[in-house]
Amino acid sequence: MEQFAKPGDFCPNEACPEYEKLQSKQGKPNIIKAGKTRKGVQRYQCQTCGKYFVETTGTIFYRKRTPEDEILETLALLAEGSRISSLTRVKGYKEDTILGWLREAARHTEKLEEVLMKDYQIKRGQLDGLWAYVGNKGEKKLPGNT
Ligand SMILES: [Zn+2]
Repeated sequence: MEQFAKPGDFCPNEACPEYEKLQSKQGKPNIIKAGKTRKGVQRYQCQTCGKYFVETTGTIFYRKRTPEDEILETLALLAEGSRISSLTRVKGYKEDTILGWLREAARHTEKLEEVLMKDYQIKRGQLDGLWAYVGNKGEKKLPGNT
């Protein structure tokens, strides 16, 4: 099984000793809920490093070197009709890299669609076009997969 952590499961701060350590594997959780943002997004705080982060931080592209914003923006551009070949030129990423993100994104369509629609103003039809790249129609959760 691939690793896909839920928000609040780990600290997304690379400088933190608890970085990417899953809560479930620790005796004493270091992540606590810390209110909500103005938009109503759940906020968390790492007790170890004191950093605050929100639900969307580091949830999809867990363990990627490229910042999640950058990946999301690239995917958003793709959804808006940019070609992968031109994105490799503009952004400087390899085609394989972008396709890799897309494949990973396609496994978490629900979460990703929410972020892309809310933060990047991507429309439903554009998302379908995006998933079509990797042969995923954006189905909801598979049965038996919680
Ligand atoms: Zn931390």
